[in-house]
Amino acid sequence: MSDRISCINPRCRRTAARDKFPDSHEIICGKCFRALPTAFRAEHRRCWHEINKWERRILRTADPLKAQRMRDIRDEWVDRLNTGWAAIRQSIERPDKPVGLETFLEEIGL
Ligand SMILES: [Zn+2]
Repeated sequence: MSDRISCINPRCRRTAARDKFPDSHEIICGKCFRALPTAFRAEHRRCWHEINKWERRILRTADPLKAQRMRDIRDEWVDRLNTGWAAIRQSIERPDKPVGLETFLEEIGL
């Protein structure tokens, strides 16, 4: 296993240090991210924002029942993040066949 992870854009040669992203198998570099449609970027940021928010709340609560409920909410955001990621990857890998941005936004309920 290499100590670098490649950008998901096959036409991009940038990589990131694996130890910076211990939980990721794939990354998108900043340049390719900025080239994405705004809706994808906004969705991606929103999901991370929510995941981090719930992570902090889970750490802060002493109530195991509440913590479990918050973990469920966090997991829903993780699922949503993964859905968005799949759409991002598809739009990069098949630029000739852009994922219907509308379909994507419909799926995530925007
Ligand atoms: Zn890239």
